[in-house]
Amino acid sequence: MITVQEHLSRIVATVQRLPPIGLDLLDAQGCVLARDVTSQVALPGFRNSAMDGYAVYAADVAGASVTAPVSLPVAGDIAAGNTEALRLAPGQSMRIMTGAPMPDGADAVAPVEDTDGGLSRVTISARVHAGTHVREAGEDVAAGSLVMTDGTRLEPRQIALLAAVGTGEVRVTPRPRVVVISTGDELIEPGTRPGFGQVVDSNGLMLTAAVRALGCIPVRVGCVRDDAATFRSTIETQIRQADAVITTGGVSMGAYDTVKEVLSSVAAMRFDKVAMQPGMPQGFGVLGEHQIPVFTLPGNPVSAMVSFEVFVAPALRLMAGRPQRETPLVTAVAADAWTAPAGKVQFARVVLSRNGSAVRAGDQPGHTVSIAGLQGSHALGSLARANALAVIPAEVTSVRVGDQVSCHPLGPIPEAP
Ligand code: AMP
Ligand code: MG
Repeated sequence: MITVQEHLSRIVATVQRLPPIGLDLLDAQGCVLARDVTSQVALPGFRNSAMDGYAVYAADVAGASVTAPVSLPVAGDIAAGNTEALRLAPGQSMRIMTGAPMPDGADAVAPVEDTDGGLSRVTISARVHAGTHVREAGEDVAAGSLVMTDGTRLEPRQIALLAAVGTGEVRVTPRPRVVVISTGDELIEPGTRPGFGQVVDSNGLMLTAAVRALGCIPVRVGCVRDDAATFRSTIETQIRQADAVITTGGVSMGAYDTVKEVLSSVAAMRFDKVAMQPGMPQGFGVLGEHQIPVFTLPGNPVSAMVSFEVFVAPALRLMAGRPQRETPLVTAVAADAWTAPAGKVQFARVVLSRNGSAVRAGDQPGHTVSIAGLQGSHALGSLARANALAVIPAEVTSVRVGDQVSCHPLGPIPEAP
């Protein structure tokens, strides 16, 4: 038996960030940059107005107030998109729109709200200082400056900045392509009602969806019979289009445990019992010329999901150039009592909620955790109800009401009713 940490460490030490590719900016959403980006341009690219109003010389309206307004001739009209270089003479104004280029000479904008909105002459009833409502060229991003570093994840906000500085294609770490293979003679395709002895391949859909939710590209192969030759040829074919492979089923101690039977002869594969509940039988290694990581997860649905969260997701994030963990564990107070096995880390399916208000004035509002229902490794009902896994250390054999419990969130944490 090895520990969860030992198994995870071996996986983390084996997988590597994928080599970079070029993608159109929008197609790179969710990927991380594979190199630093320096801007060739300044942002803003030209001096422009921050308000709809009138471009002026601040000195001309230095004495303006409601009781002593200043009247100026309006020498022109500048809309956003105007590409003509204009010059404002002292003692005059130009009507200007937000984002339009400032005329040379003008050093401030009087907002339209402080004027009568005149078209040939304007009456301004509030003073402005030099620089008021003017956006200087390069005040946001200087030309030649480093705007984003290798490893930055491209969310909508980062995509906006890269687009603004003129990026068309970006070098990024690609999303890993992950092949999902389910094994078992009992399995049938989703969408059909199972007959006696048959089981729908819920793991195949669950893992495919989990891969996609992580921002990777899933390739669901479907169900493979418990037959060594079929499984061998399936994995040999699939490995050619994959950055990683996940299998479920066939790794326990039973007869017909095909995955283990076929892959245990591969030197770079290892099958272990990991001191955890659920998810004890685990296999991991690399296959093929390109040393593709292969995760052989147990078939029990809850075991498969827990294994994905604990072992596969950290590896896929690293392959995608992201941190191994992206969300912190949450400490919560147990609202239920339950038992845990000695000598194994328990990943209990729980419902985690945020307390809306602090128990005592001045305290941070905390989190509460309750058990999600039946804890068997086959129990999909409680798995679907759960929004977190409570991580109970190997030496702890019972959780009491009021205990502090460390939780691994699986989704959003709602506020307690
Ligand atoms: P195994 O790991 O192959 O011994 O399977 C353990 C349990 O998980 C059995 O009850 C299987 O029917 C079930 N199981 C295996 N694969 C799947 C799957 N793809 N979807 C749903 N249940 C599965
Ligand atoms: Mg099986």
